[in-house]
Amino acid sequence: MYRSHTCGELRISHVNQEVTLAGWVQTVRKFGSITFVDLRDRYGITQLLFGEGLNAQLDSQPLGREFVLQVKGKVVERSNKNPNIPTGDIELEVISFSILNKAATPPFTIQDDTDGGDDLRMKFRYLDLRRNAVKRNLELRYAVNRSARNYLHENHFMDIETPFLIKSTPEGARDFVVPSRMNPGQFYALPQSPQTFKQLLMVSGYDRYYQVVKCFRDEDLRADRQPEFTQIDCEMSFVEQEDILNMFEGLIKRIFKDVKNIDYTDKVERMTWNDAMLRFGNDKPDIRFGMELTNFKTAFEGQSGHPEALKIFEESGFKVFNEAETVLAIAVPGCSEYTRKQLDELTEWVKRPQIGMNGLVYIKCNTDGSYKSSVDKFFPEDKLKALADICGAQTGDLILILAGREERTRKATSELRLEMGEKLGLRKKDEFKLLWVLDFPLFEYAEEENRWVARHHPFTSPKPAHIDIMINNNPVIDNPAEYLKHPYANIKANAYDMVLNGNEIGGGSIRIFQRELQEKMFDALGMSKEEANHKFGFLLGAFEYGAPPHGGIAFGFDRLCAILGGSESIRDFIAFPKNNSGRDVMLDAPSAIDAKQFDELQIKLDLK
Ligand code: ASP
Repeated sequence: MYRSHTCGELRISHVNQEVTLAGWVQTVRKFGSITFVDLRDRYGITQLLFGEGLNAQLDSQPLGREFVLQVKGKVVERSNKNPNIPTGDIELEVISFSILNKAATPPFTIQDDTDGGDDLRMKFRYLDLRRNAVKRNLELRYAVNRSARNYLHENHFMDIETPFLIKSTPEGARDFVVPSRMNPGQFYALPQSPQTFKQLLMVSGYDRYYQVVKCFRDEDLRADRQPEFTQIDCEMSFVEQEDILNMFEGLIKRIFKDVKNIDYTDKVERMTWNDAMLRFGNDKPDIRFGMELTNFKTAFEGQSGHPEALKIFEESGFKVFNEAETVLAIAVPGCSEYTRKQLDELTEWVKRPQIGMNGLVYIKCNTDGSYKSSVDKFFPEDKLKALADICGAQTGDLILILAGREERTRKATSELRLEMGEKLGLRKKDEFKLLWVLDFPLFEYAEEENRWVARHHPFTSPKPAHIDIMINNNPVIDNPAEYLKHPYANIKANAYDMVLNGNEIGGGSIRIFQRELQEKMFDALGMSKEEANHKFGFLLGAFEYGAPPHGGIAFGFDRLCAILGGSESIRDFIAFPKNNSGRDVMLDAPSAIDAKQFDELQIKLDLK
């Protein structure tokens, strides 16, 4: 027996017991003739006390950091207790010890605040994983996993595995491909998600499916993405949108309870995609704070803006506003006393390439009742007040206004709102607010190809009331400049996203389940009959054999864990993540393969 207890287990009640522990040497401290060692394992740290009698052995077998040690000893009460660790009331008076394995000096300290940089920690990830901070993240991940599985199991969902080697059907992200040795010149693709399989399982009658599953997408790794990531993937038969929303609100609430001990009793808010875009400039708004957008002027979905503001703009002769497609504002509470320097910094912030605006206009709603702006030349004080009133601004507020092309301005204003929310401390890590965003457009316009693409994926059904628009209209866009006037631009999808604190944590839809409508969908996306059959013949075929109405959702498991753990980065919650260039620096992958492997695959490498 290597150990009788773990390093996190011993308490005052164990005093006088003889025990055996095994673990890693965290620290060695020598005080005259006695030596203290902190011994660490997954469960905690126990202080070991090596008395004089062991000095000879310690001299001949010195201990170093991260040595694997087995000790036999007696539990004694500490005179100098450490209230910061659960085992802090006791220590182990060592009777005998044995070094189970030596360790090279680790390249960084195995502590919460380690001195190791990102690359070094990733190269030695197996050492990084020993650190408490990382361990806590993986524990949280496992807790979320367990909680989800329990909930889904209790609700009769069945975990069914689906294959990883599948057919390449690029639509959405790029596929990772795998050459087939047994079928020279042919390739499998790794699934971007098990979407079509879970739908086939519905056709097969497994009416509640789930899987905690790896998905693979060969995307440029913007921001915080991983080429392989995990979804909690779910599908149900004989459901309408309402059934899905209820079931999966339940799932997230259960996870909050099990993992964070939070009773999320509030009703989960719901917002249409249109409202989210107009009010927050974004389809995954953080609704923990207000500061909603004022649409002074807009080209969003055929709207124009606020009539009174438009009149004030016209009278002002201020070209920037009058020539802009869109003018949006937010009223930032309590910031009217921002200094010149602070305002200059904000202006620089909106000019950064990621935000891409030309400038920022402000109106200060001073506490003495006066109004001051960066465009006083064009707007007398009564007009500033009128604009402030349209924004619903209070005295003491700072109104920030952006103007430009619709899409960019809306996005920039949304980013500015989040930035100001951050600055004002309104985005607290321990406050959680869920939101359903509903009624997304079914299609998006792809300018380069002058065609429609599915906003979610091609299996998403249109709102029942919009099916006729799809069936009765030709998808061809005759005039690209006026694509918004095409009837397809108005078709809404039976799709929903779950948003948590400004992050999309899950998304799904009620699916198409009739062959004719699915064919029409492929046609709408510019796919020929042959192409549709070649790529998705199996699904179209299955729809002819009694496909039930069905729908589902998939949650981004890594992201959900990161948010619950109060972190910005999903990498912190993945045991062996890739870096920003998609590399595993520990394995040094991807890497070249042997000539023999190429031979077996009958592939000749000819890099462009
Ligand atoms: N398969 C979809 C995705 O990965 C989710 C779903 O529609 O269930 O986004």
